[in-house]
Parts: sequence; C-alpha cells; structure tokens
Amino acid sequence: MSLRFSAINNLSDAANVAKTVPNTKITAIFGENVFTLKTAREFLSDEAFKSLSSSVKSGKKIDRSVANQIANGLRAWAEAKGVTHFTHWFQPLTGTTAEKHDSFFTLKSDGTAIEEFDGAALVQQEPDASSFPNGGLRATFEARGYTAWDPSSPAFIMEIGQGKTLCIPTIFISYTGESLDYKAPLLKALEALNKSAIDVCNYFDKNISKVTATLGWEQEYFVIDEGLANARPDLVQCGRTVFGASPAKGQQLEDHYFGSIPERTYAFMRDFEAESYKLGIPLRTRHNEVAPAQFECAPIFEEVSIAVDHNTLLMDVMDRVARRHHLRVLIHEKPFAGINGSGKHNNWSMSTDTGVNLLAPGKTPKTNLMFLTFFVNTIKAVHDYADLLRASIASAGNDHRLGANEAPPAIISVFVGQYLAKVLGEIETRVGDKFDEQDEAILKLDIHKSIPELLLDNTDRNRTSPFAFTGNKFEFRAVGSGANCANAMTTLNSIMAETLKTFKADVDGLIEKGEKKEIAIMQTLQKYIIESKKVLFEGDGYSEEWHKEAAKRGLPNIPTTPLALDAMVTEKAKKLFETNHVYSHTELEARHEIELEKYLKKVQIEARIMGDLALNHIIPTAIKYQNELVSNINGLKAVGLPETSYSSQLAILNEVTAHVHVIYTKVNELVEARKVANSIESTRERAIAYCSQIKDVYFDEIRYHVDKLEQLVDDEQWSLPKYRELLFLR
Ligand code: ADP
Ligand code: MG
Repeated sequence: MSLRFSAINNLSDAANVAKTVPNTKITAIFGENVFTLKTAREFLSDEAFKSLSSSVKSGKKIDRSVANQIANGLRAWAEAKGVTHFTHWFQPLTGTTAEKHDSFFTLKSDGTAIEEFDGAALVQQEPDASSFPNGGLRATFEARGYTAWDPSSPAFIMEIGQGKTLCIPTIFISYTGESLDYKAPLLKALEALNKSAIDVCNYFDKNISKVTATLGWEQEYFVIDEGLANARPDLVQCGRTVFGASPAKGQQLEDHYFGSIPERTYAFMRDFEAESYKLGIPLRTRHNEVAPAQFECAPIFEEVSIAVDHNTLLMDVMDRVARRHHLRVLIHEKPFAGINGSGKHNNWSMSTDTGVNLLAPGKTPKTNLMFLTFFVNTIKAVHDYADLLRASIASAGNDHRLGANEAPPAIISVFVGQYLAKVLGEIETRVGDKFDEQDEAILKLDIHKSIPELLLDNTDRNRTSPFAFTGNKFEFRAVGSGANCANAMTTLNSIMAETLKTFKADVDGLIEKGEKKEIAIMQTLQKYIIESKKVLFEGDGYSEEWHKEAAKRGLPNIPTTPLALDAMVTEKAKKLFETNHVYSHTELEARHEIELEKYLKKVQIEARIMGDLALNHIIPTAIKYQNELVSNINGLKAVGLPETSYSSQLAILNEVTAHVHVIYTKVNELVEARKVANSIESTRERAIAYCSQIKDVYFDEIRYHVDKLEQLVDDEQWSLPKYRELLFLR
C-alpha cells in the first residue's frame, strides 16, 4: 500500500490517540520556566539582583564577578527544576533558532566530578560560526563568532520530552564585532528609536526618559496530519506543496473562518499554549483562519525584543508539540496553491516610561499634538523608506503572497481611516498659511473620542493595506508567517528613529528662528504631510486600479525578492543604518548577500524536489496507468470490438502521454537552466536567474501538467496525498 493510503487508513488511529491535555489555570503555570526578576530575587544575592535588574532596565553591562553570582543562582534555580544542561540560545540568519547544549557536569583537575556553571559560561560561548551564514564576513575578517549573553531577555527552561535545558538568550557576533544574527541589530535599532523618540517626547513632557517600541504579532499557520504530510516529500523538504490540483471544495464557502475548531487541532492548541505559558509567552487569542486547516494565534503585546524572542520560541514550540499529536504545523507563507497563504501581522506602537501609548490619540490638546506628531512621523518614515520596508519582508515564501490577491500587495502604502485622513487633509490645506494661535482649533480636534468609534469599528478596517492604522497602533500586515519579525522590526524602528531625528532638527530650526514651539511643530507636521501624502491610500489594495494609480504616484512596486533586496544596499540605506548605529556598510552588504543566498537556495531546493517528484512519483504512476489503458485497448481490440468501444481510452492515453512528454522535457530543461544559473558568479545575478529563468519559466508550467495528470490518472495509483485529503482530513 502506498504511503498515501496507509496514512489515510491510519488517520482515525492518529486522531484517537490525540493527547488529552489537562485543564490548568493559566496563572498557575505562566512563566514557571522563566528566570523572571521575581524568581531572580529568590535565587540571587542583593548585589547580583540589583545588577541584573538595572541591566534589564537600562541595558547596562554586568561585570564578571557579578556574572559568577548570577550564573550560580541560575544553576541553582534550574537544577531545582531537574535541568542538567544549558545552552546559549540565539537567532542566526538561517531563520530558525540555534542551540548548542553543554552539561553543567565537569571534571576537576583531580578527576572529581562536579556540576558547574560559572560567569564565563553565562556571558560568552563560541559556537562554530562557520556553519552559519555570514555573507562573506568570515572571509573578510577571518572572524570566528561568539554568542554573548543578553540580560534584557530572561533565561528560560526548554522542555523537550523528558529533557530540560536552561536556555540563555544571547546575541551572535563575530570576533571583530559584526552582528551575525537578528537580535543584535534589533537591539541597536530599538536603542536608536529610544534616543530619537525621547527627544521628541520632551517637547510635550519633560518627564519622559524612556520610549519602548511594542509589538503584538498575529501568527497564522496550517495544521495537517503527520502521516499525510510524511507522504509528501515536498512538504517534508520545502514546507510547501509544489504540486496538487485544486480540490472541488477549497475555501470558496468561507465556512472555516471563525468556525468551530476541530477537536484534534484543539487539543494541539491547548497543549502548545500550555507550553508557551510556562515560557512566559502571553498568548491571548486563537481562531480558525479563512483557508481550510488554517489557524491563527496572537499574544498580548510586549516590548519588541521580548515579543520577537517569544515569537521565535513559539514557532519552535508549535513544531515540537505538533509532533506529539501526530500533526505537522506548516509556517510557510504559501503551503497550498489556490488557498490563502499565511502572514504574521506585526502590530506596532511606542510607549513611554510615563505609561503613554504614543500612537493612542490624546485626551488633551497637548497630548493630541504628541499623538499627531508620532502618527505623522510614522507616515513620513514609511513614505521615505517604503523600499526598505519592502526589502525587510522579502523572501521566497512571501513572494507567493504579496500581490496574490489574498495579502497586501508589494506596494507599500499606509491606511489611516476616513477620520484621520480628514484631519491630515485639514492640516495640509493650510498651505502657505502660518499656523498661529487660532490653530488651537486643530489641536483641540476631538480625535480621541472619534477615533475609537471609527477605527476600532471593523467596517472602517482595511484588510488590503500593508500598513494600517488601527486605532492605537499600526499594523504591518505584509510580514510573512515564517519570518523572524526582527527583520521587519529592525527596519521599522530604524526608519522611525531617523525620521524623528530629522523632525527634531526641523522643529528646533524653526524655534531658533523665533517660532513658538507648538507652531513650529504644526508647521513641520504640515510639511511632512505634504511630502508624504502619496503613500496614503484608503482604497482596495488588491485592485488593478491601485497598481496603476501607485505607478502614477511613483510608489515602488517590486514583486520579487532578488530585486526588492536591492533597497538594502542603496546609499540611502547605508547612511540610515550607519548613522543610527544599526548596521555598518559591511554588515549591510553581508546581510544583503545572505538574503539573496537564502532566496536562491530555497528556489533551488524547490526545483530539485519538483524534478524528483516528477521523475520518481508522477511519471512512473502515469506509465502504469498508460499500461493499463494500453492493455485494455488491446484486449477490446482482440475480442473484435469496434474502435468506438475504446476511443475514450485512446483519448485518455493520448492526453496522459502528452502531459508526460511535457513534464519530462521541461524537467530536463529545468536541470540545464539550473546548471546555467549555478555558473553565474554574482550572487545577485544568480538569484535573479533563479527567479526569472527557473521559477518563472518552469514552475507553473510543470505544475500545470502534473496537476492535469492528477485529475486523469486512476486515484488508486496516485501516490501523493491530494489537497482534499491534506486540507480536510483530520
Ligand atoms: P485585531 O487586529 O485582530 O482586531 P487586536 O486589535 O486585539 O486584534 O490586536 C491584535 C494584536 O495587536 C494583539 O497581539 C495585541 O496585543 C496587539 N496590540 C494592541 N495594542 C498594541 C500596541 N499598543 N502595541 C503593539 N501591539 C498592540
Ligand atoms: Mg489584526
């Protein structure tokens, strides 16, 4: 029996062994595997605790002697929970997380066995950097890499089956200081934002001394049966199906959205949620998504850096827990053609140490102006650096979504809602007018009262916008489901930092000329609104008209990754990231190289899988069916029946033969095209070739003929689980 049919047969068994997940009160387990400051208080001396908590708050360095004490406390806590190993946990540019486990166990010089974890092991480790992508940095600097403890993110215990490991969140850098991971530049961007934002906040409130960016991500994913997934080599190797005919019923009835969650999936959700709560991930919502077998979860928002850690951890936890339930979770942006893909909305705002959300409309004229300031600066930042934002979400997987009439287009625009559009319009139309005392009226606009009504009301939500204001935050919707949100967040916070810095300089310039502060601010906002209004769009982002209109407005629209990535290395980008101390030129160039490589390797793997499936699954199955048709035709002929009795068989045979011929020819051409592409020296040109000479030329065409065969060939013989099975059987 083929894997496909044994998986279908075993399905009810797999579903029946669905683990029972105990009902636990969330507050009873929340954070129990995290070395929170509260836990630290119990396990650390006063000195060590003070040092750790001030480092968490201010990012201050911890000195080595204190690090020893903290390491001891950490080990005591972890051992009490049955932990034997520790690892530095980090987020390399491969897109997954990395760990290298070491045990506490060690031998003293006289051979005595002891358990030990000292400050040095806590603060720094040396994983072999050569096996992680570094975009040529190693060649340039002969740099080995090391991981360095990031005290701002708390240590946690990861449970895998019976094993428990103490994970120390770290950043990953080369010996010459270049960052090799997602976290290091993110922390730098957040610091840049903090600095610029404080300066601007102080126009309104001198007491503000810290600004933290906040992130609440919404993670979409598919869940399918393990046996069925295992019978699809493409899912196993690429996380997406490269073939598969559309099922009779797909998502057209939209009956999955907000429907009841299937029981087996529900058990899985409750299980991974419980694991997440133990790790301090504050999950809040779960529901079905539009596509069959698609779901979403979202947490309560947190500081960006913590939210990023929690999202990467969650993706890992989901994958592990799914296996316990004989399920597979697919986090790829487009696992199934013709069915919606998955995204990861990044809800983003900034908040002050005085407890103010800077993107929440204020209640007084003064706080209203503070809101308008951050609101308009965000629009300006997105306008000025739309190309960089686009680059920050570019990936092979996301190329299937952006602009595919299911996700926001590759054109970056901002949606603000009718009411705020009107407010901006009013400020803008006073062109030439000098704002004066009378313009207090503008400041007194009842924004805070009207916005919640208008924007928090779903009817005024625009689901087709890549960057939408949703009442008290912006929602960056174009981020891919499998992405590390650090990439998008590093860019967004850097461009915001830069824009606020310019804003401050512009306003100060006017004040120096003798303008009153509020008026200087209003005039600068007016200027920014005028300069960036072409990025505002309230209409349907999926429509053909918008593509035309956006072109007329001169907004960039780059649908494919290799070209979208060019924005990373423009003079503008280099200047932005360098002056804000986020990336040096070399780091930026290395990252550009890494992203190109990631792209072309993904396409390369998909191309190989296509060839493999075509030659080893599809064509052999088609040949068996041809043989059956041939012997049937011969048999009918032999007993003397007329041609009309086997003309249909002959027609089917012809069709099958024609498809087999195209598939075989195209797969061979694809292999040759790959050889040509592989011989191209420049990574950028090679990535472009993989996109335009391989993916664009062959993928859809080969798929078309394979999917036709799937619909022609005897179902009994087809070896790959079909869409209707992957999506609807559970
Ligand atoms: P939806 O967009 O589906 O209506 P919500 O508006 O409740 O859902 O929020 C979606 C996400 O936005 C949640 O993760 C939530 O925590 C997050 N969020 C809410 N306020 C903020 C904020 N100030 N900063 C960042 N994220 C936020
Ligand atoms: Mg949302």
